[in-house]
Formats: sequence, C-alpha cells, structure tokens
Amino acid sequence: MWEFFTEPEFQEKLDWMAAFVRDECEPLDLLFPHPGDPYDVHNKASRAILAPLREKVKEQGLWACHLGPELGGQGYGQLKLALMNEILGRSAWAPTVFGTAAPDTGNAEILALYGTEEQKAQYLQPLLEGTIVSSFSMTEPQAGADPKEFVCKATRDGDEWVIEGEKWFSSNARYASFLIAMVVTDPDARPHERMSMFIVPAEAPGVEIIRNVATMNERDDLDEGTHAYIRYNQVRVPLDAMLGAPGEGFKVAQARLGGGRVHHAMRVVGKCQRAFDMMCERALSRRTQGKTLAEHQFVQGFIADSAIQLQQFRLLVLQTAWIIDNQPHGAARTHIAMCKVALASVLHDILQRAVHLHGSLGTTQETPLGPWWAYAPQLALADGPTEVHKAAVAKQVLRGYQPAPGLFPTEHIPTRRAQARARYAAILEEHGL
Ligand SMILES: Cc1cc2nc3c(=O)[nH]c(=O)nc-3n(C[C@H](O)[C@H](O)[C@H](O)COP(=O)(O)OP(=O)(O)OC[C@H]3O[C@@H](n4cnc5c(N)ncnc54)[C@H](O)[C@@H]3O)c2cc1C
Repeated sequence: MWEFFTEPEFQEKLDWMAAFVRDECEPLDLLFPHPGDPYDVHNKASRAILAPLREKVKEQGLWACHLGPELGGQGYGQLKLALMNEILGRSAWAPTVFGTAAPDTGNAEILALYGTEEQKAQYLQPLLEGTIVSSFSMTEPQAGADPKEFVCKATRDGDEWVIEGEKWFSSNARYASFLIAMVVTDPDARPHERMSMFIVPAEAPGVEIIRNVATMNERDDLDEGTHAYIRYNQVRVPLDAMLGAPGEGFKVAQARLGGGRVHHAMRVVGKCQRAFDMMCERALSRRTQGKTLAEHQFVQGFIADSAIQLQQFRLLVLQTAWIIDNQPHGAARTHIAMCKVALASVLHDILQRAVHLHGSLGTTQETPLGPWWAYAPQLALADGPTEVHKAAVAKQVLRGYQPAPGLFPTEHIPTRRAQARARYAAILEEHGL
C-alpha cells in the first residue's frame, strides 16, 4: 500500500518546526548572512542568539535528529528526517540551530563508528553538542571527482603517521577544531584500497591554510572565503588518528554519506519551495500591459513548469527515503544518485525563473534569490559532479537489461508481427487473413 499522509502527532512537530524556522531562524539569516557565519563559533553575537534557540529545539526533542538512538537521537528514520529537512532547507541557519549541519553530521558519524573513546570525548561529544565545528578534507587542487588522482599522502614513521600534501575546498576549515582527511597510504594498492582516513587536530603543527577560497557568494578582498586550500606540511599524528584500517578510506567515507544526501536533497526542496512562493507572490503583485504577470501565459508556463518539477523532485526524494527505511541496505543507491543529479537542475531551473520574474530586483542582493542563484552551480559539484552521478545511475539501470538477441530490437514490429501471425496462423487462415 502506498500512502501519502503524515501521522498527526508528527505533523504537529513539523508545524512547530515550520513556525520556529520562520520566526527564529530566518532572522539569523538576515543578521548573519555570510555563508560561513553558521560555522563561526567565535562570533559572540550570533552565538548569544543561537544558544537559547538550541535549547528550545532540545526541549522539543528535535536536536540532532539524524543521530541513532545510541547517540541521543530519536531514531526517526529517513522519511521523517526528509520531511524535517524540507523545513530546515528554508533557512541557512536552521541546520545549525537544529544540530544537523554538514559536514559535522557526517564527520560525527565517522567518529561514532571508528573513533577511540578518547577521540569521542575530545571531538565527538562537543561536535554533537554544537560547541565546535569540523571540516572534511578530501578534494585536491589537481583532482576532485576522481580520487584515484589524489596524491596527498601519509607515511608511517615509528609510532606516527606523517601527512604531506595539499587539499582543496576543505569547507569551514578556518572555523574547525579538527579535520577528517582522506589521504594516500599505499599508492601501489588497488585504486579503492590506496587511501585511509585520519583525524587531524586543526592546531597540529604543519596544518597551513594557504588561503580561504571565496565562492561567488563571498568577497575575496574581505577574506570571506570559507573553502580552505590547505597544505599539510609533514603533519605528525599518532597511529590511532587513523579512522578504520589502512586502505579503508573509501569504506569510511561511505559511512558518512548515509542519509546525508537525502537530507540535503530535501533541504533543496525547501529552498525551491521558498523561491517558488516568491515567484507566485510576484506574479500576483506586479502589473504589466494592463494585467498582472500571473495573467500572462508565459508567466503561467513558468509557474506550472516549476510546480511540476518541484513536485516530481519532492516525490523522488521521499520515495528514496522510504526505500532506505523499508528495503535492504544499499537498495536506494540508484535513487540517491538520481536525487543528487535532480537537486542541482531543479534548483537551477526554479531559481532562474524566480529571479527572472522579479526583474531587476531579482538580480540584486535585496531578496534571498541573488545569493541562492550564486549557490546553484555549487550544488552540481559539491559531493561529486552531476556527470559522475548520472553515469552511476545509468550503469545501475543498465544492469537490469540485456542486448537484443538478434539483429533487430526485441520490440521490432515486423519480427513481432510475424511471431503473432505464426501463433494465430490457423485462425487467421480460417478468416482469410
Ligand atoms: C560548495 C562546495 C563545497 C565543497 N566542500 C568540500 C569539502 O568540504 N571537502 C572536500 O574535500 N571537497 C569539497 N568540495 C569539492 C567537491 O567535492 C569537488 O568540487 C567535486 O568532487 C568535483 O571536483 P572538482 O571541483 O575538482 O572538479 P573536477 O573533478 O575537475 O570536475 C570538473 C568537471 O569535469 C567533468 N567531469 C569530471 N569527472 C567526470 C566524469 N567521470 N565523467 C564526465 N565528466 C566528468 C564535469 O563536468 C565536472 O563538473 C566542495 C565543493 C563545493 C562546490
């Protein structure tokens, strides 16, 4: 049975969240709008506003809900988490207020699974409490989408590993207390067994932020960049800094992706919905040629196309969450890749129409649309380019098919008609056909 309703008790929680995000989180977006602000644990003013809000979230039992019950979460399952993340996606600050901001969520999962008791006490606990933030350090300046090209390496020296090399786009490293770095430990091993994962304290001697790279949303001249270009200069870490076994970097990295992509996709649904709401309000408010924009057919096309795309995407993400909840581990793999591809294109298309309908105002920083538009290309790259995920979808889908057995496709009409004729030859002959 397929059903599309939300339990009333859970709907009450969603309603509380929606009001709280609008009334309490969105003001933070306005006061501290820089993309790095939610991660800047040293900003006393934003933290003073944040602290009591987090307490209210905790009182509602809605803090860090992505965590399993063993780490203090509610064990909601992915479908409920998806619905919650749809609301959180409406505000840049909301994930921080609710203890579900990436990459800390994924890094916490890695530490919970692979960290020592000491590491958990030093890093995991404050991360879960939201008092520190972390960074994930994998991409390199010369290679991103293909980890087989990575060269930053760690070599064993007595009781230590020595990390040497460069990493690129380690988001939020400038605010982080520690980094989780994926580096080569055995360059001669098979490609997926070359790398290992390490926890590296941000203050470890030799960790050098070459620069904080600014994206389109950030001002380089004001040093607003949040994506660190890092050099690990002979950084020494103890043996137990390795998370998982040598060569298990990819396996450990998979642990952090769990439901994260579904949550991210659903946050994009929330952002698209907000842009769509703005588009509709604008269409009903602005007049040209003696009627509202909404009465012009081109504009109706924008609105209909956006509504359809958004609804298709939302249902895809919710179905993906349902598969994770109800089918064996790994069954949602293709769907997760489909969500990753779709989120970038749906956000792009809806934002483009929303910006356009707002005319010159849409191109400014006087509505949220401008910064969101600058964010759109990032979505098609972060966590792997669209092409890589499309290739993964196609490969998985094609596993369910075989080549045509003969010269013509199995749907070749003359061939099939001949088969049908042969099957009913007697009847056809009897009727003179
Ligand atoms: C906002 C943002 C945050 C990020 N945060 C982090 C982070 O915290 N830590 C981290 O380690 N990294 C991070 N990244 C980096 C991200 O993982 C990489 O951008 C991504 O893996 C792509 O690598 P690249 O940028 O080097 O692009 P490339 O690998 O150079 O790819 C460029 C283009 O080449 C084409 N291409 C690449 N591979 C294929 C293929 N197999 N088939 C067809 N075409 C292909 C695609 O058009 C692709 O867009 C972040 C990126 C962004 C944008």
